[in-house]
Amino acid sequence: MSSLDPRAPLVLDTRELGRRPGVQRELVRDVEAPTELGIEVLHVPPGEQVHLDLRLEAVMEGVLVTGTAQATLVGECVRCLESIEDEIVVDLQELYVYDDIRHDQSDEDLDDEVSKLEDDLLDLEPLLRDAVVLALPFQPLCQDDCPGLCVECGARLADDPDHGHEAAIDPRWAGLQALQQDEQDED
Ligand SMILES: [Zn+2]
Ligand SMILES: [Zn+2]
Repeated sequence: MSSLDPRAPLVLDTRELGRRPGVQRELVRDVEAPTELGIEVLHVPPGEQVHLDLRLEAVMEGVLVTGTAQATLVGECVRCLESIEDEIVVDLQELYVYDDIRHDQSDEDLDDEVSKLEDDLLDLEPLLRDAVVLALPFQPLCQDDCPGLCVECGARLADDPDHGHEAAIDPRWAGLQALQQDEQDED
């Protein structure tokens, strides 16, 4: 009994490799992105195409998957909230072990960590998720030196580098203003 759905876009069928070590197959396919691929501030929109360019190769223990996945990312700058659109290409490499290969008792701990084939089907989704998340910056920015937003009015400073306020200061910001003044005086 397999828990994998052979019709799922990220479930790959390796049966035509016939478990003969050395036999390879190229697999180029566009699939719909699963939900929550990436991180909240930068992700592949669900339903967007992910372009897979893979090689499946039968080896002694299982099937080795190598290749790339390419997709469009959307998100927003963590400093100024400007929307970001970017392309990502991630490398994929994973050995999927045949699920009916017998292991010694001592291998049991290791057993949970390896990716397995189920009825010669493999699930690419966990590998794809890990690879995408690892490739993303934790703090996406619209540009490397994004100056962020004006603390007084929320204007995007990258659009208006000479931005300033002459008018009366909101009392809530007065303390901060005094602090900034002190720093300037020290220079
Ligand atoms: Zn920004
Ligand atoms: Zn302002």
